[in-house]
Amino acid sequence: MARSTKYIFVTGGVISSLGKGISAAAIGALLESRGLRVNFLKLDPYINVDPGTMNPLQHGEVYVTEDGAETDMDLGHYERFTHTRTRQANNCTAGRIYYRVITKERHGDYLGGTVQVIPHITDEIQLVFTEGSQDCDVAIIETGGTVGDIESLPFLEAIRQFRGKQNRGDVLNIHVTLVPYIKTADELKTKPSQHSVAALRQIGIQPDILLCRGERDLPLDIRRKLALFCNVPEDCIFGARDVESIYMMPTYFHSQNLDGKICELLNIWSKDPDLEPWEHICDTIRNPSKEVRIALVGKYVKLHESYKSLIEALNHGGYANDCKVCLDYIDSEELESMNEGEIEDVLGNADGILVPGGFGVRGTEGKIRAIEYARTHNVPFFGICLGMQMALVEYARHVCGWSDANSSEFYPDTPHPVIHLMASQEIVTEKGGTMRLGAYPCCLADGSHAREIYGKREISERHRHRYEVNAALRPELEKAGILFSGTSPDDTLVELFELPGHPWYIATQFHPEYQSKPTAAHPLFASFIQAAILQQTKNGMRIGSGT
Ligand code: GLN
Repeated sequence: MARSTKYIFVTGGVISSLGKGISAAAIGALLESRGLRVNFLKLDPYINVDPGTMNPLQHGEVYVTEDGAETDMDLGHYERFTHTRTRQANNCTAGRIYYRVITKERHGDYLGGTVQVIPHITDEIQLVFTEGSQDCDVAIIETGGTVGDIESLPFLEAIRQFRGKQNRGDVLNIHVTLVPYIKTADELKTKPSQHSVAALRQIGIQPDILLCRGERDLPLDIRRKLALFCNVPEDCIFGARDVESIYMMPTYFHSQNLDGKICELLNIWSKDPDLEPWEHICDTIRNPSKEVRIALVGKYVKLHESYKSLIEALNHGGYANDCKVCLDYIDSEELESMNEGEIEDVLGNADGILVPGGFGVRGTEGKIRAIEYARTHNVPFFGICLGMQMALVEYARHVCGWSDANSSEFYPDTPHPVIHLMASQEIVTEKGGTMRLGAYPCCLADGSHAREIYGKREISERHRHRYEVNAALRPELEKAGILFSGTSPDDTLVELFELPGHPWYIATQFHPEYQSKPTAAHPLFASFIQAAILQQTKNGMRIGSGT
């Protein structure tokens, strides 16, 4: 067991999207499998204080932690691959660092000194390293961006300084780089990696380990060439080739002894890794006995990264049922102008329909049409956050007969605001900082479907929204058949509702997807996929019909 905290810094070179986050998470999984406690820190070089107000189509999903921080989606990978519970301290942007330094400066903390990138910004970054590395044997610190970017320079400089202050053998630099395959020359190319490592060394960082992303495994001659030009020992150069599923990364890295090498370099004595859970997941992914189609009806379907946790949670639900989940991404806006026959063409093949969260009015009427289809055709339906709110609107319009029902977010003067801002909520004057964020407790009604699925009465789930179910209209909606089976402990807030009599219809104000793991699927997702499998049997078997 390690005595003091050891640090692994993960940087990226050549291009973005090399899978640094997955690599960091997979390394964490391997170290955990050796009995070590890991923690993570993600540094983002942009100026926003957090990604909360960033467009999902630009930045991907905003991941919400238990303590209500809106963070980078890599934190989702960290939680899915390990037992770490991330918090605000596990994600920091350049904007937050500058904000902290400027706040101190305004407070007079620098005693009249000139406040500069070195040492003030770099000192603050090092403080963040330690804040994000509490209670662990190994802290894995990932820097966003690519080496060579102007924006990442202060972070890299902080890493260089930090290493100098630690004991020898307590800090490791892992550089994730690209080794492209050039088809016409039938060759793997090392030059981009050579340049990237040269850029790192210019800043004063010599990588200890290279993870080489590419389409193929690294042959020995390429490894040797990289070793020579990058000044990294041959046995510290590892392949990170494309694999079928991100969950194959831990066993793939282990097959090359990456975890053994990390422990050797960091001087950590640990037990042999127990990789049985990961091997089991790999088997399930490779040989599913069933296949279902889920329609995901949302606004951000053009960038799948926007629904990262959701897509992963659906996959996990599949693993729990030995089933492959095929997703049909459906742009809700496109449903709006369709006639019934066209809707049938788009949704008729789905074994389950999921309407996720979102912001803004665009596409909401299309979501309502998808929900109506699921309700009236008895297709398993899962509504999450905005998906839940629109489900209530759909029911109010088509079952209660309140044709003007809506969320006051989209129709402020509707006579039937089934979703609204509560009187106690302050008037929204600024975007950001006004939402119900993070984990809240929820009580499930005895005898309800949700209670049966969770197998317990009290649950805790994470939220990210402003609007709530209008308590004044609850009695009439209940009379019309809705079961508000999940509420806050004082029964004032609706957290979940269901439709008795429907094969599977659950709508949640919270985001259950944030807590699902490949090795422990969230119960709602496991149950939803199980219902989709049943639905498929009803529709007639389509196993093996391809994706
Ligand atoms: N726009 C809705 C609200 O703020 C739903 C948000 C969401 O789906 N995350 O309440």
